[in-house]
Amino acid sequence: MSNAVIIKDAVKKYGDFVALKGVSLDIREGEFFTLLGPSGCGKTTLLRMIAGFNSIEGGEFYFGDKLINTVPAHKRDIGMVFQNYAIFPHLTVEENVAYGLKARKVPKAEIAPRVEEALELVQIAHLSKRKPSELSGGQQQRVALARAFVIEPSVLLMDEPLSNLDAKLRVQMRTVIKKLQRKLGITTIYVTHDQEEALAISDRIAVMKDGVIMQCATPSEIYAKPQNPFVAGFIGVSNFLDCEVSKDGDTVLNGGLKIPVPLRRAYTGKAKLSARPEQLFFSDSGIAGEVQFSTFLGDFVEYEIRLDDGQSLIVTEYTKDTAGMHEAGEKVCLNFDPHRVSLYTADTEEVLSC
Ligand code: ATP
Repeated sequence: MSNAVIIKDAVKKYGDFVALKGVSLDIREGEFFTLLGPSGCGKTTLLRMIAGFNSIEGGEFYFGDKLINTVPAHKRDIGMVFQNYAIFPHLTVEENVAYGLKARKVPKAEIAPRVEEALELVQIAHLSKRKPSELSGGQQQRVALARAFVIEPSVLLMDEPLSNLDAKLRVQMRTVIKKLQRKLGITTIYVTHDQEEALAISDRIAVMKDGVIMQCATPSEIYAKPQNPFVAGFIGVSNFLDCEVSKDGDTVLNGGLKIPVPLRRAYTGKAKLSARPEQLFFSDSGIAGEVQFSTFLGDFVEYEIRLDDGQSLIVTEYTKDTAGMHEAGEKVCLNFDPHRVSLYTADTEEVLSC
C-alpha cells in the first residue's frame, strides 16, 4: 500500500555545516511530489534521509502514522531510481527486474508474471533477455524504473533520474514516468533541478534554497503566485522592477505609471514588482521604452525592451494575436494586468500581492 510521507522540522548537519534547517513537508498518499532547487540546496540530502541512507540530526520522519527515524533503509519499503540507473551489468533485463522480488522471497510462480507485467508497462518486454550493455540510456532507465516499482513499494524515490538522457528522451521519459505513476498510484518523491521538468511532472513542488523550503504548492500556483522573488526568478522567467507603494495603496513604477495591484496587507514604501513576459502587453499608455531586439519563435515573439529608466524587460506576445512584429528601435509603451503580477517588499522580500 502507498503511504503518506510526513516530515517535521528535519535538520541535517555535516560537521558544522547545516544542510537542512528545519524542513517540514506533508506529502500525500499517491502524490507525485518534487523537490526542486539549485545545486547544493539540500534536495538529495533530504531524499537520502527519507530513504534511510543519511543520519538525522533533528526532526521526525513518518510513513503514514509510523515514525521511521530509526527504521533501517532496507525495512522502509521504498523503491529507488537514480541518475546513473544502478542496474546490475551482469544480469539480463528480466533478471534485474526480478532481483528485488527474489530478495523479498516472493513465491517463484509469482515472479515471472510480475516481471513481464512490469516490463510491458515500461514497454521493453521485447528486450527482456538483453544485458544492460546492449541497451540505450533510455532503455536502461526503463529497466531501473521497472525494477523500482515491481516490488510495489509504499514510497518511490527518484533522484534526477533523467539527467543522463538527451533532451528529447528526457521529455519522452518524463511522460512515461508520469503516466506510470498515475496508473500505479505510488507516493513518489522526485528530485530535480530542472524547473520545466518539475512543472510538467508534479502534483506539487517544494522549491528549496540553502536548506529551506521557499514555497510548496502546485505547479500552477508556484508559477502564477510565487511567494518570494527567489521562486519568481527560479521558476520560469520573471521581470523585476523597482517600484513604490504609495499611501493610497497604488503601486507606482519609475516614470510615474500607477497600477492598482491588490495587496494582502496595508503597506507603504519601496517594493519590487515581478511580471512574467506574457503578463506584459503593448499599450497606448504605460511605461515607455524601446525595442532592443525581437526574436521570432514560431507561435510567439520574444522582445527585449529597454525602459527609459535603463531597466530591461523581456516581453512575449502570441503571434496569432498580433498583426505584425515590433522592430528594433521602435518606441513602445508597456502595461500590466495588476491582478497577475506579484509584488514584494524591497527589504524583506515578503509577498504583498494577493
Ligand atoms: P545537486 O543538485 O547538486 O545534487 P542538492 O540540492 O541535491 O544538489 P545536496 O547534495 O543535498 O544538494 O547537498 C546539500 C549541501 O550539503 C551542499 O552544500 C553539499 O555540499 C553539502 N553536502 C552534501 N553531502 C555532504 C557530505 N557528505 N559532507 C559534507 N557536506 C555535504
